[in-house]
Amino acid sequence: MSHCVFCKIVKGELPSIKVHEDDKVVAFMDIYPLRRGHVLVIPKIHQQQLHDLPAEYREHLVNTASRIAKALYASPLKPAAVHYMVNDGPAAQQTVPHVHMHVLPRYSDDSLGFVARLLRKPFDLALGPQKPAELEALAADIRRQLA
Ligand code: 5GP
Ligand code: ZN
Repeated sequence: MSHCVFCKIVKGELPSIKVHEDDKVVAFMDIYPLRRGHVLVIPKIHQQQLHDLPAEYREHLVNTASRIAKALYASPLKPAAVHYMVNDGPAAQQTVPHVHMHVLPRYSDDSLGFVARLLRKPFDLALGPQKPAELEALAADIRRQLA
């Protein structure tokens, strides 16, 4: 049994709403999304920081994140831009010590709303995750575009 939450997701010991999986990476919906359509892409091996990953995992992680972004653009969410984000160590607000790339839909002039959402996140963590049915509907939209 792993102690890392994301290793548990990789092994299927914890449920997740996946949009993509292959031999090297898993992409799934963030359960405390900063934005509708917030996806996390993780390697299937446990490393805390991006530079610790074997190059082929790092490359595949970034390629997968950009495929997810392309799917988001084509989905009904229709973002104007995406935010790729890696918090690469605890001092950079990394809360799960397993490499993950956030892919976040962004919209024109949404900066204030985005910051407000960031500030609310600690309360969400205390109150509980987003409803699985809502996440599943968004995941289905993304999967359709990846297919
Ligand atoms: P960090 O702050 O480390 O860059 O991001 C960790 C992310 O993982 C957060 O956005 C958080 O909402 C998400 N997260 C934490 N635990 C779980 C979980 O059990 N399942 C899913 N799907 N996401 C999680
Ligand atoms: Zn791990």
